[in-house]
Amino acid sequence: MWSQIARTLILALTTLTAAAALGWLVDYWLGVLAALAGIGLQMARHFRNFSRLDRWSTAPSIEARPEAEGAWDMIFSRLYRHEKDLRAQIARRDAELALLTAAGQALPDGVILLDEQNRILFCNTTAENQLGLDVRSDRRQPVVNLVRQPDFIAYLEAADFSRPLSLRAERGEERVLSIHAIAYAGDRRLLHVRDVTLADRVDRMRRDFVANVSHELRTPLTVLSGFLETLQEIELDRGERERYLGMMAEQSLRMQSIVQDLLTLSTIESAPPPENLPIEMPELIDKLRGDAEALSAGRHTIVVETAGRGDLIGARSEIASAFGNLVSNAVRYTLLGGTIRLQWRVGAEGAEFAVQDNGIGIDAKHLPRLTERFYRVDRGRSRDTGGTGLGLAIVKHALNRHQARLEIVSTPGMGSRFAAKFPASRVVGL
Ligand code: ADP
Repeated sequence: MWSQIARTLILALTTLTAAAALGWLVDYWLGVLAALAGIGLQMARHFRNFSRLDRWSTAPSIEARPEAEGAWDMIFSRLYRHEKDLRAQIARRDAELALLTAAGQALPDGVILLDEQNRILFCNTTAENQLGLDVRSDRRQPVVNLVRQPDFIAYLEAADFSRPLSLRAERGEERVLSIHAIAYAGDRRLLHVRDVTLADRVDRMRRDFVANVSHELRTPLTVLSGFLETLQEIELDRGERERYLGMMAEQSLRMQSIVQDLLTLSTIESAPPPENLPIEMPELIDKLRGDAEALSAGRHTIVVETAGRGDLIGARSEIASAFGNLVSNAVRYTLLGGTIRLQWRVGAEGAEFAVQDNGIGIDAKHLPRLTERFYRVDRGRSRDTGGTGLGLAIVKHALNRHQARLEIVSTPGMGSRFAAKFPASRVVGL
């Protein structure tokens, strides 16, 4: 740099010396003129370079390096390099920021970054959907102006972020969000939003289930302990004693059935996928017919109808348990003299096992809930016929594990048809 400045000074001095020599040797005014011309030329050159710098610095471009002379060239070169480095740095930062934004977007949970005044700095698409935000218009807006639920506002105000906030949707579809605020960079907050609707439902189902099981077992237990007390405290004659013991046996049988069905359900739920062994259908249907006749004790007509050839592949115990439940339901919910049909059909599209009865039937409003555990249309009738309310739940699980579905068609007073439909992949010997 200094050499360039020295060169510029030397050029100015040389010009002045030459002009002075000219003035001294030839003519004074010629010398003055030469000095003015020399200095003017150099000034013009500096002025040209200066206006180039002015133009370039107003809109610096890195397409082409601006050309200049002397010391100016060095300044231009430095500025140009500086501008280029700056742009490369900005491009790098932009790429890093884009990566971070993409990572924020890729998170399965909602993420919102807030500043010290709870204004939105960043919000991923998941959070937009969860909280009904629109980041284009809502950026820099205080989040409490957009999510107006009092619990949420109180949570942010209280600033106790040791636990997440559980937020239920105010209206519309049932949705539960877990929002956890985490402090970062001083007073800023990051909101981590998880949709826990499913977990919440599972948790509620678990609680309901425990409550249901306790309730189901408590009733026979209460009856049983009542009878026990009576037997202990009161002298009964032989006949009455026998009657009480009979009722106690009935209650303990009921508890046994509930526990047995619960065990079956839990085995089916937790067991590995069913083994794929052929199940001899003629033999199974024969057994089901025998069971139906035994349960019916001559009160119904049992008919077997088969069409097509082929066996199922799967776990025999699970299929037998599912079909057995359908058969026993048909017997239990069909009045004296009714007809129960066990139908087995095999076709190119798969197989169907159905139990059709002309029993009491079911109102359409109950159909979607029938496979829920402990759901019963008529609790009294179910109990009187030895039901546990778990039969169709077992059926549904066992069929699911065999890629089959349960189809229910029923008309109150006319009868019902419960059909288990299996895909062709579950049938052998078609
Ligand atoms: P349960 O042990 O009470 O029979 P299930 O889970 O097997 O329990 O069935 C649930 C409910 O579905 C029964 O309580 C009954 O109300 C109804 N249901 C099942 N099968 C039939 C049927 N074939 N006809 C009429 N109602 C039925």
